[in-house]
This record gives sequence, structure tokens and C-alpha cells, in this order.
Amino acid sequence: MALESYIRIMKAYTKMDEASGCWLYTKSVCPATGYGRIQVATKRMHVHRISTAYHHGLDLNNSNEFACHKCENRNCWNPDHLYKGDNHSNQLDCSNAKTFAKYLQKNAVIGSKSNGVVAI
Ligand SMILES: [Zn+2]
Repeated sequence: MALESYIRIMKAYTKMDEASGCWLYTKSVCPATGYGRIQVATKRMHVHRISTAYHHGLDLNNSNEFACHKCENRNCWNPDHLYKGDNHSNQLDCSNAKTFAKYLQKNAVIGSKSNGVVAI
């Protein structure tokens, strides 16, 4: 499937966060990682990688190229909030933006409401 087709599907399931400018993919978010994901047939891909491929030339078949976030929303696919990076910049992205910590914190709060588990 061409990247344009993925982008078209992603647009149909995106909520714009006006405060941050983030494009939040709402159709499917991986509970373990917080990344928005799209599945077509048997192929499942992260929406931020598709956006980075389409807008910034990321090679989806190259595992050494990473789609890094400038913002703190892992399911954001706004091309202005993404850049193509390598493993080093991806590590810096994770530690500087604290995206995963924020995601875990948000999920812990949601978890405490739905199943009685108390966030630590
Ligand atoms: Zn964003």
C-alpha cells in the first residue's frame, strides 16, 4: 500500500490537540508502548514512522532509521513534531522528552480508575 493511502486512513482517525498542535491518532494505540498503530491486512505499523517516511524520507525497511518525536505524545504523527534520526538521536529523544515516562504516568492513572490498581 502506498504511503498516501496510510496517511488518508490516519487522517480519518486523528484528533487535533489545539494546545500542543499534536495530531493524535485515536484508532489504535499500543498499550505497551503508547505509539499509534495502523493495521492493513496482516501488516501493522506505527503511525509516527509512516508520517516520518512520508514527510521526511524515513526508510521504513531500514531498522537503523528512527522516527523521533520533538513533542511528548507518542501517538502524535504531526510531521512538524517528528524528525528522522538514528539510534543515538532516538535515545536522546527518549531521555530528553521523557515521552515514555509521561505515557506510563498517564496509563497508571487510567489503570487506577478502571481496575482498582493504585498508581505508585
Ligand atoms: Zn506532537
